[in-house]
Amino acid sequence: MTGFLQSLGVPRRLNAAGTLTRLGGALMAPEVLQAMQEAAACSVDMAELQTAASQRIAGLTGAEAGLVTTGASAGLTLATAACLAGWDAARMAALPDTQGMPARVLMHRTHRNTYDHAVRLAGGCIVDIGHNDRGTGAGVRSLEAWEIESALDAQTAAFVFVASPEALPLLPVVLEVMHRHGLPVVVDAAAQLPPRENLRRYVEMGADLVVFSGGKALEGPQSTGLLIGRRDLIGSALLQMMDMDVHPRTWAPAGLVDMARLRGTPLHGIGRGFKAGKEEIAGLLCALQRFVERDEAAQVAQWTQRLQVMVQAWTAQAPMLAPVLWPARLSQPVPQIALHTPEPAAQFSRRLQTMEPPVHLAEGRMEDGLLLANPMALATADDALLVQQIARAAQDAWPSASRTDTFAER
Ligand SMILES: *Cc1c(COP(=O)(O)O)cnc(C)c1O
Repeated sequence: MTGFLQSLGVPRRLNAAGTLTRLGGALMAPEVLQAMQEAAACSVDMAELQTAASQRIAGLTGAEAGLVTTGASAGLTLATAACLAGWDAARMAALPDTQGMPARVLMHRTHRNTYDHAVRLAGGCIVDIGHNDRGTGAGVRSLEAWEIESALDAQTAAFVFVASPEALPLLPVVLEVMHRHGLPVVVDAAAQLPPRENLRRYVEMGADLVVFSGGKALEGPQSTGLLIGRRDLIGSALLQMMDMDVHPRTWAPAGLVDMARLRGTPLHGIGRGFKAGKEEIAGLLCALQRFVERDEAAQVAQWTQRLQVMVQAWTAQAPMLAPVLWPARLSQPVPQIALHTPEPAAQFSRRLQTMEPPVHLAEGRMEDGLLLANPMALATADDALLVQQIARAAQDAWPSASRTDTFAER
């Protein structure tokens, strides 16, 4: 396989930046590939496969139903489409045109992010509510029940909530108000794993739909995601994703579709471009099973031990990096190493990315002069090479700028 990538001239990268989608997401275990290989070699009824997947996902997450999507982003589009169209085949056919149907999607102002596009893609019209007092340092307000209440009208279809440890206390408030008005809440929990209990947390709290990324901590195929939640909404999402080149007289849809409430046979829906392949479905189910069965504490201990070895090596070989181990904690369940960069952090990150082989560290704290080493998508076999590459880069960078210069620049 290495030979194949080599023939394309694409270098293998040392990824200590985490399960970043643009670097190919997580590394997959051989068992996951085996499941994909098996699926690749046979024909199956896709609706039957997704229905079986739904039962498996329900068992592992506590949700009523679930669906393998082509990513959390696709999951957000399908979730929005399900909230807008329900079982209405005419509405499914009309999306993203939402004329004549409620299409306002409420979001807390501080939750807006670039995945909003996935909601708008289905026809959702995002309405910002609440305040960003905390973010701006202006005060302590964020979003209150009366503000949600006063934003509701007959054109409101759903609320999209972006999960994070900081945002979590607000979720019960959103759920209470929206449910009192019979309206659904979609939770974007794409990157909220680990910890494993988050697989169940949002549904247990009452969320109607939840999306997770399959190519991040779940270590499934990069092009996958999970959409879990209410059975009727999952059924609607499935219909809007499946290939609908069916004969209305012979179509016998799988168990997730409520034929009594569905009038007419839907056409290709808004999600037709996000079809999950049988290989991806099998791969993600296998990965999900492995994730649920994994000893999470042992995994954290193993990550921590690997990082401790790296900290020792850098302290000896490249002390200017002043490596500090940040242990796993509730808001950051994966341990990381903070490296003080010997030149402006962006410059050092660029230097690492142009090495042979290229090296990637997480760039989220660059403004503080730090780059972070994250073990999630780093093969254990690459640990020693990573240490060596970064130590070499630090020695190259050190004469060009002292630490004092770096601080003075800010
Ligand atoms: C990664 C991410 C997504 C997109 O996930 P994909 O599986 O790559 O589509 C969406 N929302 C958030 C908050 C994310 O972190």
